[in-house]
Amino acid sequence: MQVIQSTKLANVCYDIRGPVLEEAMRLQAAGHRILELNTGNPAPFGFECPPEILEDMLRSLGTAHGYVNSKGILPARRAVMQYYQTKGIDLDVEDIYLGNGVSELIQMSMQALLDDGDEVLVPAPDYPLWTASVSLSGGTAVHYRCDEQADWQPDLADIERKVTDRTKAIVIINPNNPTGAVYDDEMLRGLADIARRHRLIVCADEIYDKILYDDATHTPFAALAPDLLTLTFNGLSKAYRVAGYRSGWLAVCGPKAHATSYIEGLTILANMRLCANVPAQHAIATALGGRQSIKDLVLPGGRLTEQRDAAYEALTAIPGVTCVKPKGALYAFPRLDPKVYRIKDDEQMVLDLLRAERILVVQGTGFNWPEPDHFRLVTLPSKEDLTDAVTRIGSFLDGYSQV
Ligand code: PLP
Repeated sequence: MQVIQSTKLANVCYDIRGPVLEEAMRLQAAGHRILELNTGNPAPFGFECPPEILEDMLRSLGTAHGYVNSKGILPARRAVMQYYQTKGIDLDVEDIYLGNGVSELIQMSMQALLDDGDEVLVPAPDYPLWTASVSLSGGTAVHYRCDEQADWQPDLADIERKVTDRTKAIVIINPNNPTGAVYDDEMLRGLADIARRHRLIVCADEIYDKILYDDATHTPFAALAPDLLTLTFNGLSKAYRVAGYRSGWLAVCGPKAHATSYIEGLTILANMRLCANVPAQHAIATALGGRQSIKDLVLPGGRLTEQRDAAYEALTAIPGVTCVKPKGALYAFPRLDPKVYRIKDDEQMVLDLLRAERILVVQGTGFNWPEPDHFRLVTLPSKEDLTDAVTRIGSFLDGYSQV
């Protein structure tokens, strides 16, 4: 008899590690070299672990082999608290939960919040873990449109239209994965206004808050709307290039008196997973207090800025391909003009690209984008490798049609 998966998984989908990756692994096992432009994982592209972080991880290994407080060790939570206090956000160490990456905390935050049928406003395109976590928790992700014509800014009127009496929360990913959009204070105030009027909890995923290009600046949502209950998510995976350490945090900001039951729920879930990886918690205070932030890499002439530029230039040189220039994060999300490229199934398109060119990207519909006319690539490889890869994507696309 077949063992059948739970119906809870019926609408749970995470295409960044989906069937196309399985095909890539099959090709790798058969001896092919695949250029992996599919995940925002800096380490394989020569981004070193900052030495101070490595040192503190190593030093902690001898003593950090026991369980600790479910919310996390105090020095790390204190460092997170101070990080936000310097940005004008009022919070206490007890408001901070450390997790095995932001991923675990996203899932906990939704499981503690949602009953069957509750709705959460999630951007389209999104980082798909949000939609998957809402679904797994019994909720419904209602996607609000980010407008490519307006540099991928959220469409406030679309959000307003989609609020119902079941809407409990809104997810804001800023800087955004996959689009690279960064929201200015006016946009954040517009989002806050909607959350305020409809009494929504705000989930602010700010894991790319330090990865900003050109003149972009980042305002934490909680700093701008101290009267709203805001869950702020961040961690070490991106800005500190240690995704494999699995180290992230959730800061509960704003008025907590009316959320004691929800916060108790979060604490129960934190207790149930005992605690997050302890050696990686020892890296947090070092990271937040140190000078090894990603800043040098995103300055003009910095490696990440140059790579973003190389990807953007090569992509927009392909006939029928346009791309909003990313202002933050580690990705580009180009559009394939449907008048030029006849694509009905973008997963098939990225599979065909993988088989033809040995380049792995992720289809746009994997980010809950409704049309099969986008894909995402990471801007982590060297600019030479990116230029070469995108040129090969252009050759593949030349004449490609599924009709
Ligand atoms: N949030 C966003 C927007 C991301 O892009 C990612 C990873 O790519 C995560 C959360 C998960 O990060 P972590 O490694 O901390 O689990």
